[in-house]
Amino acid sequence: MSEKIARGTVRTTRSDVLLASAGGRGVLCGIYDEDAADTYHDLMQDADGTAEAREFADRIRPESGPVLELAAGTGRLTFPLLELGHTVTALELSAAMLDILRKRLENEPPDVRDRCTVVQGDMTAFALDERFETVVVSSGSVNVLDDAGRPGLYASVRENLAPGGRFLLAVAVAEAVKSESTERQQELSGLSGRRYVLHARMSPVEEIHEITIYPADETADPFVVCTNRIRLLKVDQVVRELEQAGFDVVSRTPFASAGQGSEDVLLLEALPRVAGS
Ligand code: SAH
Repeated sequence: MSEKIARGTVRTTRSDVLLASAGGRGVLCGIYDEDAADTYHDLMQDADGTAEAREFADRIRPESGPVLELAAGTGRLTFPLLELGHTVTALELSAAMLDILRKRLENEPPDVRDRCTVVQGDMTAFALDERFETVVVSSGSVNVLDDAGRPGLYASVRENLAPGGRFLLAVAVAEAVKSESTERQQELSGLSGRRYVLHARMSPVEEIHEITIYPADETADPFVVCTNRIRLLKVDQVVRELEQAGFDVVSRTPFASAGQGSEDVLLLEALPRVAGS
């Protein structure tokens, strides 16, 4: 399976400018792709999903069995869920992310490692052997999917949920409608000490949030430009889509621990509608 299928490598207004001046040193990649793995790991290996995992775990019945986590990435949420005692199947599309996740698992004690199953798969089209009482998607991961991808996610989740199961999804939602696009830029330090620039452009008109991350050192060779594009979703739209896909959204609550300042995150709890009700 190619990881370019679901996402493609996104060009941003910023990456076009940067690559034009970097010439032969320039490399463009999606933030979850292999060429970006060094940058992603440098910036993210410290990212702690414990608070976020707790918010999910508060909604997972203790007696319910294994949890299916979609778009698990390098396990920011997976490890805290395992630490809280859950058994987790972590599904992720990107081979580069999975490599890091698997290496991290190898460093865990056997009782933790043995409670985690890692699966390469596309969250918009998957069928696992097991049915799950709980399916979780971390904040923002739904937002990487476009309008064509989300229905596949909802349908796949329905198929893989056990009767009475629940789908917990954290969704980054657009703030109060602003008509003008906004840009901001900040410098970040990686764990290695390398410096990066993060450039973000929010365009409410296009309903997108573009991210571009690149070395602060303009002479870097290779000059790796990582991009990502998330859709700014309206909560009512996601709720409507879930209902059309046969779910009842039984709660929507602000997701306290997530959000990167530029958008709000809501936690939705959706139950498959039982036929005839
Ligand atoms: N849940 C992790 C990762 C979030 S980043 C965390 O909270 O840190 C979003 C992740 O979605 C990336 O790892 C990306 O590779 C993955 N992804 C994107 N499209 C996907 C798809 N169609 N199926 C599965 N994973 C996907």
